[in-house]
Amino acid sequence: MIPTRPCWAEIRTGWLENNFRFLAALAAPHAEAMAVIKGDAYGHSLALCAPAAVRAGAGWLGVTSVEEGMAARAACALLSPPRILIMGGVFPGQAEAVVQHRLTAAVWEPWQLHELEAAAQAAGLAPGSLPVHLEIDTGMSRQGAGPTALEPLLARFTPASPLRLEAIMTHLFAADEADQRVTREQLAQLDCALGRISAAGHFAEWLSVGNSAALLAGQAGVVADLAARHGMRALMRPGLALYGVVPEFDPPFAEEPATLAAARAGLKPVLSWKTQVVGVRTVSPGAAVGYNGTFVATEPMRLALIAAGYADGLQRRLGNRFSVLVRGRRARLVGRVSMDQSVIDVTGISGVEPGDEAVLLGTQGTETISAYDQARAAGTIPWEIFTGIAPRVRRVAV
Ligand SMILES: *Cc1c(COP(=O)(O)O)cnc(C)c1O
Repeated sequence: MIPTRPCWAEIRTGWLENNFRFLAALAAPHAEAMAVIKGDAYGHSLALCAPAAVRAGAGWLGVTSVEEGMAARAACALLSPPRILIMGGVFPGQAEAVVQHRLTAAVWEPWQLHELEAAAQAAGLAPGSLPVHLEIDTGMSRQGAGPTALEPLLARFTPASPLRLEAIMTHLFAADEADQRVTREQLAQLDCALGRISAAGHFAEWLSVGNSAALLAGQAGVVADLAARHGMRALMRPGLALYGVVPEFDPPFAEEPATLAAARAGLKPVLSWKTQVVGVRTVSPGAAVGYNGTFVATEPMRLALIAAGYADGLQRRLGNRFSVLVRGRRARLVGRVSMDQSVIDVTGISGVEPGDEAVLLGTQGTETISAYDQARAAGTIPWEIFTGIAPRVRRVAV
């Protein structure tokens, strides 16, 4: 095999395992933790991260789609089989695969229950043997059953149906706001829905609530108390923190909860994104750099070409406003980011030569570029930075 173009992401699966164990300990003894590996494990490679999470003890994995669920099932074939939640719901025609690959669907639309029930019946499943997680919309207006939809959905869980109401889930949409006011309102809505569910004669074993921000803000006890009042067990669903990134709270806490302070010390970033210097050139004052000459040298400069561009996920808007690491120093991106290449200013960095490693995300020497650093410069969030790293960027376990 020929060597590939040097633009790759190193995935420290050992750190992902440590991060999962840390989060599970933070959730315990109140709640269990699901490893959220949707979006190809936040761009970290589901194939690498699903088995790592299971090795670290994850009993639940959360994925986007049935396709991802099947990939996770295959990736974990030699391990203790995890439960796999399809968080984005099933799409028409997918119910058979849910049954066949022992996946668990988040449901909130009547047709989803209908298709799952039909597929389970076709497979000859016994009553109550296909678990589903019913999502309740507690204020986000994205997915989930709204207040008027709840009872008609519950009516589908008859004793003869192969469907089993295993969990009630909701998604907190402002757990990264330090006052947790919206979260309290959502949990009050959820409490009310849980009351209606038991009033209708139904029971679910699990209450599935809470992302990284909720867990790190110390909400595990609150969620677990709510679950306990309804005779349920709590399940939390951290994603970003699993990859070693602590979500930022806006506005920040006046005084940080101990759980958040512990997370800053305990979580380590799993992904480093790297490329190499292709060549170095010296330019004279007045030289234009890149498309449209948005950067013009004002003095003699040394410029290095790196093999990363916007087709790799290095956002074009980072041109002239972000730095990467070379020889342990920050080197500014000058001019526009091209599709497959970018140019950095290495004037003040001695000895840069072709083949030198350039770090787009991660640590080199004593300098670190975090996902938040890159996200802030690009006007986005770490979730989008990670999932924006293109498929052609090889994910390599280290
Ligand atoms: C993405 C997602 C999570 C995890 O969110 P993080 O903020 O990354 O921890 C949890 N639950 C649901 C439903 C999600 O879509």
